[in-house]
Amino acid sequence: MLNGKHMIQSKKNMDINYLFIRSRSTHYTISQWMIRKKLQGYVGFANLPNQVHRKSVKTGFQFTCMVVGESGLGKSTLVNTLFNTQLYPPKENRDIAKHASQTVEIKSITADIEENGVKLKLTVVDTPGFGDFVNNEESWKPILDDIESRCDAYLEQENRVNRRRMNDNRIHACLYFIAPTGHALKPVDIEFMRRLHTRVNLIPIIAKADTMTHEEVVVFKERILADIHYHQIQIYQAPVYEYDDQETIAENTEIMSKIPFAVVGSDKEFEIEGGRRIRGRMYPWGLIEVDNEDHCDFVKLRQMLIRTHMEELKEYTNDVLYENYRTEKLTVMGIQQDSSVFKEVNPTQKMEDERIAHEQKLTKMESEMRAVFQAKVTEKEAKLKQSEAELYARHKEMKDALDKQRSDLEERKRRLESGRPMTPEKSKKKGFSFNK
Ligand code: GDP
Repeated sequence: MLNGKHMIQSKKNMDINYLFIRSRSTHYTISQWMIRKKLQGYVGFANLPNQVHRKSVKTGFQFTCMVVGESGLGKSTLVNTLFNTQLYPPKENRDIAKHASQTVEIKSITADIEENGVKLKLTVVDTPGFGDFVNNEESWKPILDDIESRCDAYLEQENRVNRRRMNDNRIHACLYFIAPTGHALKPVDIEFMRRLHTRVNLIPIIAKADTMTHEEVVVFKERILADIHYHQIQIYQAPVYEYDDQETIAENTEIMSKIPFAVVGSDKEFEIEGGRRIRGRMYPWGLIEVDNEDHCDFVKLRQMLIRTHMEELKEYTNDVLYENYRTEKLTVMGIQQDSSVFKEVNPTQKMEDERIAHEQKLTKMESEMRAVFQAKVTEKEAKLKQSEAELYARHKEMKDALDKQRSDLEERKRRLESGRPMTPEKSKKKGFSFNK
């Protein structure tokens, strides 16, 4: 700890800064002086990012992505194009007997892919059958159930005593394919997004954008966004951090401005002049290039999903979407959190609270004592009144008896004086005897 003098000294000699700790989702400013000091020699902690990097490369990365949309919108082609691999076998080799069961199926494919020594365990969850039925009202339900059951599985692992090997099968992003109609969102699209936006990172995509002109795409995007806004659907928004450099902010803003991404998928390559091979779709009037930003938003989508926001998507899934689900689930089960346990304690406030509580206790004790005293006084008064009444009654009784005696004596006196004898019975009855 630095005292005031040292602080001034340090201020002169060193570059003093606030410490900014940046998490991916929050920024904290710690109001405490930190000293930026130039080291004399090499210590080695500049290598820390490399350690994190090496560890991540060693353990590999894992990402689970869901694709939803009507059949034939180009979902499997796009996934293959995105990860530059034949994750989905060619259509002719796939089982085309498909959804005999009139419900949406959930199928997942996992592949371990590697690029420049970095491993990615990619899982793509497909939802064949979605939007393909005459009545698509409940199409969203099996998908929501699947997303929630993955969260349940994670919650169950969290509650285990041994949590060393946690398997994260939660969906980190959901690519929702919108048919290139050029009109607006269909009821099935709105219903799906409305039901799922609080459970998964929704990324809307205009499928087969090569079937529309550039102007049509612009208008269609506006309509889609207006519908999304109107129905208060929350689609994935990459966070913009205050302390990101200008280049990153500009890049993120550019990516976000492309949502809903108008994409073209193709796993076919064509040779152009100069012998360069290009992925795209060949038309009589020319080649639509998948990786050309002037032709479609495929590059921006891939950039967001893989290059810039894969970890953000995972973090948002864990910190916000899963956390909300977990809270809801535990609340329904009747488990409540004692907020006082996790409350931040301000010592001054705590002392003040304790003083108030103590004063309240004293006041309560005082009023209780006063009540007891009052009860005792009342009781004593009642007793005194009672004995007073008894005394008064006794006094009255004695006075009456004396009055009676006096009148009897006076009567006897009168009789004696008048010479009338007294009847012995009468005198006996009176209970008084006079010795003459
Ligand atoms: P899924 O059923 O949604 O998985 O669709 P597929 O990926 O199997 O694609 C269905 C058909 O659409 C195939 O013939 C693809 O070649 C074609 N397709 C895929 N992506 C595009 C695209 O971006 N534009 C056009 N015009 N056709 C596409």
